[in-house]
Amino acid sequence: MTMNPQMLGAAYLAAGALFILSLNGLSNQESARRGNLFGIIGMIIAVGATILSGNVSNFGILFPAMIVGGIIGTVVAMKVEMTSMPELVAGFHSLVGLAAVLVGYSSYMDPTAHFEGSEKAIHDVEVYLGVFIGIITFTGSIIAFCKLKGVIGGKPLTLPGRHLLNLIGIIACLVLGYMFLKAGGHNGMMPLLIMTLIAGIIGIHLVMAIGGADMPVVVSMLNSYSGWAAAATGFMLGNTALIVVGALVGSSGAILSYIMCRAMNRSFISVILGGFGTGGGAAAVGDEEGEVTSASAEEVAGLLKDASNVIIVPGYGMAVAQAQTTVSEIVKKLRAKGKNVRFGIHPVAGRLPGHMNVLLAEAKVPYDIVLEMDELNDDFPDTDVSLVIGANDIVNPSAQTDPNSPIAGMPVLEVWKAASCIVLKRSMASGYAGVDNPLFLKDNTDMLFGDAKDTMDEVLKHL
Ligand code: NDP
Repeated sequence: MTMNPQMLGAAYLAAGALFILSLNGLSNQESARRGNLFGIIGMIIAVGATILSGNVSNFGILFPAMIVGGIIGTVVAMKVEMTSMPELVAGFHSLVGLAAVLVGYSSYMDPTAHFEGSEKAIHDVEVYLGVFIGIITFTGSIIAFCKLKGVIGGKPLTLPGRHLLNLIGIIACLVLGYMFLKAGGHNGMMPLLIMTLIAGIIGIHLVMAIGGADMPVVVSMLNSYSGWAAAATGFMLGNTALIVVGALVGSSGAILSYIMCRAMNRSFISVILGGFGTGGGAAAVGDEEGEVTSASAEEVAGLLKDASNVIIVPGYGMAVAQAQTTVSEIVKKLRAKGKNVRFGIHPVAGRLPGHMNVLLAEAKVPYDIVLEMDELNDDFPDTDVSLVIGANDIVNPSAQTDPNSPIAGMPVLEVWKAASCIVLKRSMASGYAGVDNPLFLKDNTDMLFGDAKDTMDEVLKHL
């Protein structure tokens, strides 16, 4: 059975509408599951319609490949820890990039394709752009994957004259593009291959130059690139659904990058140019003056019992420790005693956008007490206890006080303004951005050392 062009168009239109509804649903926790479902249905329609479009043959290869790919995807997604999600996303982006490159080459080499005149020029531009964006996405995502996994350090690689190197690379790609378009028939293979090599190196270099603190933007930026790579593939294959999906992913990734940059008070250009932040892991207090004081779980439980207003600021460490269920239990107990307990969520807390919201939703924390940074940052002076659970960079006062700090200007949750501030972490190590944190030395700050799940369990016991 094959679909006629009208049916195919209608199916792609329906899929496109479902993808838009999906994105809309994903913008809010309460509708996120529904959004996901729309996305799944849209994808089934898009893939099904493409299979029935009459343009696809060789089902003997297609179906086994779909089954094997589907099984791998399902197993990987079921097994992945929430803390490893950014690596997984980066890994998947690299596959989109690779697919665009492979489709570009095969479409260029296709012996059955006979384009003439302007049609050929348009097709060649699609191929060249698709391969260019695809290879940058591919190599850049692999480097992002390695950085997020810790295989490569977070420190930015700042080669001398690196902007000039990128510029020379891009000019070379433009010249090669001209040669590629000028070559008749299938004779443009050599410029295409050389461009692939150069653009691949540009992808590696671009992401290598971006330091730990800017990785959230890199992940969303590569998300955007992967969308444009998919859209380019759609043009090469003449597949409307792929063009629509690619454009949606590309533009939503670009908007997300912009939102993340604003949250970190950084300009998109300065992020892309790189060279910001350090490798992370160093002691977090550097040359700061003051003394680190610590408290026991029992003392923290006592503080919480006496408090009326509590703000909890979760960070990456809560995800690592998987402490969210215990935290939720503690919150339930405190709220049952009539205390005002809220969560303050920083836009780049954790390792992926919405990381904390997902964990708290999973632990059944009511949505109405989970607030964005801007919604409660002014409330800290009226707060008795601020409880920082495995967060570091997002509560670093030096972002406001030290103009030389690598995170200077990034908005942070002002936890130190509460009467008492308790910081849960295992050691004095710095956070992802690798910068000192004077919060730990403040008079009203006490550290509760240990794995956040263990210490939260202890606190719960004493409550
Ligand atoms: P940070 O990485 O700044 O700090 C996390 C802290 O958690 C560490 O200092 C660590 O200290 C502590 N920790 C780790 N494991 C545990 C554990 N088992 N129990 C208790 N504490 C633990 O995280 P934040 O959430 O504060 O900030 C996010 C950072 O990540 C920002 O720099 C952001 O730019 C970056 N980022 C964000 C992404 C996003 O999309 N949200 C993506 C990629 C990066 P110790 O080792 O002493 O325990």
